Amino acid sequence: MKYDVIVVGASPAGLMVSWKAAERGARVLLLEQRNSFESASSPADTSFDGFFKLVGLKPRAEYIVHRVKGMNVVSPLGTAATIETPGFSIDRPMFDAYYARWAINAGAEIKFNSKVLFVNSKSIIVREADGQKRYDGEIFVIASGNSEIINRIGIKTMKHPGDLAYAIQAEMDNVEIDEDYFHYFIGKEVAPGWKATISPKGDSKASVGVFVRGTNPKTFFDKFLEREMFNQSKITKIVKGADQIITMPNDLVSNNLMAVGGAAGQAGIAYGMAAGILCGEIAAEAVIKGNCSKRFLLRYVKRWKRLFLNHYRAGRLGLTTMERMSDADLDVIVRALKSVDIFHELARHSNILLSSLSLGILLLQRNPKLIGLMKYLSFS
Ligand SMILES: Cc1cc2nc3c(=O)[nH]c(=O)nc-3n(C[C@H](O)[C@H](O)[C@H](O)COP(=O)(O)OP(=O)(O)OC[C@H]3O[C@@H](n4cnc5c(N)ncnc54)[C@H](O)[C@@H]3O)c2cc1C
Repeated sequence: MKYDVIVVGASPAGLMVSWKAAERGARVLLLEQRNSFESASSPADTSFDGFFKLVGLKPRAEYIVHRVKGMNVVSPLGTAATIETPGFSIDRPMFDAYYARWAINAGAEIKFNSKVLFVNSKSIIVREADGQKRYDGEIFVIASGNSEIINRIGIKTMKHPGDLAYAIQAEMDNVEIDEDYFHYFIGKEVAPGWKATISPKGDSKASVGVFVRGTNPKTFFDKFLEREMFNQSKITKIVKGADQIITMPNDLVSNNLMAVGGAAGQAGIAYGMAAGILCGEIAAEAVIKGNCSKRFLLRYVKRWKRLFLNHYRAGRLGLTTMERMSDADLDVIVRALKSVDIFHELARHSNILLSSLSLGILLLQRNPKLIGLMKYLSFS
């Protein structure tokens, strides 16, 4: 049987592609290598209302397990800044199942236990319980969270694949922490290249992750768990993974092929979903118009760039700048962060320059000492 759109991976991005493309009239097949949503679910389990709003989605009570008032950012010198911006922890299998229902109700077919081995512009080869199979389609969307499948056919979806962050994350109980906030710890000693996080899930449970770049997270993870708040804690589950946070999207389409979500360097649950919606809309339009050429599919990339590229640029600028800062400088930044509404500022300005400037001005208003720091950063 020939499908219009075949999606690889029931990721947040892949589920949105499947839902949107089916809703717009395409015959959609979604292939997922896992047996069910419960098995080996992704460790990504938190987001902010601000992210969902920014990308045009509404978080749903059906999958939220715990709500927080905002985030608490802790500098290497121990200074904490509380940023009031509501967020939530999700039950990931419930989250995936919730959006899968959207896709199925719109007419998409989902096949579990179907591992994609190879794709080209005409068909896809999978391994299923009863052996290898081939499915034919008009458009293949790679939403597999990593870029392996699409790299194999020579498409480089990430500009800086060497900048992948590596993480270890544990589910823990008896964590003694303020459950009204997510907690982020930064600094070279804690997590070089990014952050350590504690995401409360209620009843003293939390997911605890250490994300680093350019090194192995193991030593930093072990050291982080020596902190006092974990004295009585037990690990109930542990996972490892890679986060595309600042790899930056590169080539996202080719003839009959599209990439989306983590596979395309579009990191994060909410941003992946937003990209999935755009991707699904264009895939359906291409099929209906009988034009699945790279030229037509580039409409997806153009729309995505207009809406979100600057957010990724700002993220990359932020993390690479942070990496060069001393602990004392980071401490100054954290002090200045207090009460900046980051999502409001991002939403207000679609232009990177304006976003950075407005954030910069807000930070300076809160701490004039930053002028010296900014001079140092811009000349170094
Ligand atoms: C430890 C860790 C914690 C994170 N926490 C958060 C967080 O709290 N919030 C957040 O926004 N981001 C978080 N991230 C980042 C986030 O996971 C990614 O940026 C993003 O979710 C990637 O998602 P995706 O939707 O593209 O794919 P994923 O969610 O990775 O899903 C990919 C899917 O494709 C399937 N698949 C893969 N290969 C094949 C194949 N060959 N055939 C068939 N199916 C296949 C997989 O089984 C999986 O279901 C975290 C990352 C890590 C590593």
